[in-house]
Amino acid sequence: MLSPFHNESFTDFSKPENRQKQQEALKLVASQSAREYPLFIGGRDVTTGRTFKSMNPSHTSQVVGTFHKAGQAEVDLAMKAALEAFEKWRWVAPKERAIILLKAAAVMRRRKLEVNAWMITEIGKSWPEADADTSEAIDFLEFYAREALRWSEVKGATPFPNEFPELNYIPLGVGAIIPPWNFPMAILTGMTAAAIVTGNTVLLKPASDTPCIGYLLVEIMREVGLPAGVLNFIPGSGGEIGDYLVTHPKTRFISFTGSKEVGLRIINLASQVSPGQIWVKRVVAEMGGKDTIVVDADADLQEAATAIAASAFGFQGQKCSACSRAIVVEEVYDRIIALLTERVKKLTVGPPEDPSTYMGPVANQASEEKILGYIEIGKKDGRLICGGAKAPGEGYYIQPTIFADIQPGTPLDQEEIFGPVLAVIKAKNFEEAIRIANSTEFGLTGAVWTRDRYKIEEAKKKFHVGNLYVNRKCTGAMVGAHPFGGFNMSGTDSKAGGMDYLGLFMQAKSVSERLI
Ligand code: NAP
Repeated sequence: MLSPFHNESFTDFSKPENRQKQQEALKLVASQSAREYPLFIGGRDVTTGRTFKSMNPSHTSQVVGTFHKAGQAEVDLAMKAALEAFEKWRWVAPKERAIILLKAAAVMRRRKLEVNAWMITEIGKSWPEADADTSEAIDFLEFYAREALRWSEVKGATPFPNEFPELNYIPLGVGAIIPPWNFPMAILTGMTAAAIVTGNTVLLKPASDTPCIGYLLVEIMREVGLPAGVLNFIPGSGGEIGDYLVTHPKTRFISFTGSKEVGLRIINLASQVSPGQIWVKRVVAEMGGKDTIVVDADADLQEAATAIAASAFGFQGQKCSACSRAIVVEEVYDRIIALLTERVKKLTVGPPEDPSTYMGPVANQASEEKILGYIEIGKKDGRLICGGAKAPGEGYYIQPTIFADIQPGTPLDQEEIFGPVLAVIKAKNFEEAIRIANSTEFGLTGAVWTRDRYKIEEAKKKFHVGNLYVNRKCTGAMVGAHPFGGFNMSGTDSKAGGMDYLGLFMQAKSVSERLI
């Protein structure tokens, strides 16, 4: 018997003992920079001699770890191991598979501050952001363990005279798990755990910016006794091995989270049948966003401004759910800009190992260049309110930046920037604000701030996003409460962390035995 699911508590960093332990974990991680990491295939470490380095975005010359790199031969090796393991793992009872996830959750909880430290170091998360990421990873493990048990008891068929009909959910096969760097523990763990708890075996290719965090999950799964070949770890460049992995005839499904461009490429390639392939590949692709907070005249403006600032600049605006547009009705437009400016000027930017830092660096040089490019466009297309440049320091630091008077249809209104840049747009009224909010190709998250019951109802009906929030920020989805996934070009609306999710990793087999 399991206790009901509840979300993992965040670490209270106001307690000196927790601050002390987090500092110690950071030192431990720093001491491991010379480590070389192998691939992990079929329960064995595999080295290739070809390596790449994971770098610290806060101190750009600092190596975090050196990784052996998978090529096509290692994809083949991992596929062979996963196919072999599938023949045993597929028949293991859901309860036994769920126990593995629950044990992994327990280990992750015990090593929480260490997991946080890897994220602070490898991708520049602030302490609370890293802690929220680790907590979400624990939630996924706990939630999907319970979900696997629930799905195993689902009665999908109704009685039929003189027969015994059943509908059984069975695993798909070997899957490719391709996560992004921005929730390097939570998303990677969630996608992997959902696949294996339903009886599949996987090839996990971590994002090249965060392989250490991927390796940490492998270590945890080894510690809790996940059988060999169920989880195979193949770090390497998506550009180099991604297509091969996706088009491999034995790949049964692809679980991807990342950019629209890569997601569409995967969907396209997976639809083409490779020689020897005997199934239609299933693709779950969660992609980008252009997320919006709409503010109406009668909203609590102080609270709305706080929510916009948190949604736009938490983790440097690098969340798929980050608020990159605030659409504000004209009566309160200037007031919201003033309140936002007041808040954003207080945000600190710097090395995230310092607990007083609110914003760390952006992920890498390419991200920095892309974001600074959008800032230049913003200077032409809008009115710079604050920020607008790099912030001092050795890392990829960018000031929190706000542009007002952005016009609908321009790049800052339409394109995903994935950095600390907020566009503020004026609308004549609430109806127009919702119309502008809906006028992009994306549909991931959104929020509305209003006290008007009719407008709340209108937004619930017409604001076309996968995750809509009323009178709160548009980031911070919680496993269980806010199943996550977007509409339109934001992806396949998989609703990660929800009760439909595990169904994506299984197929239903209808069996009926005649009784007389
Ligand atoms: P990305 O560049 O698309 O990369 C995502 C993953 O795909 C990485 O592991 C990457 O490997 C791999 N990849 C690259 N090229 C590939 C190919 N040809 N075939 C197969 N895999 C390939 O995205 P990102 O920069 O890591 O993440 C940011 C994006 O993710 C944003 O657009 C954000 O909105 C989106 N996101 C969406 C959600 C959601 O739930 N909707 C959640 C988080 C993030 P390498 O690292 O080796 O290139």
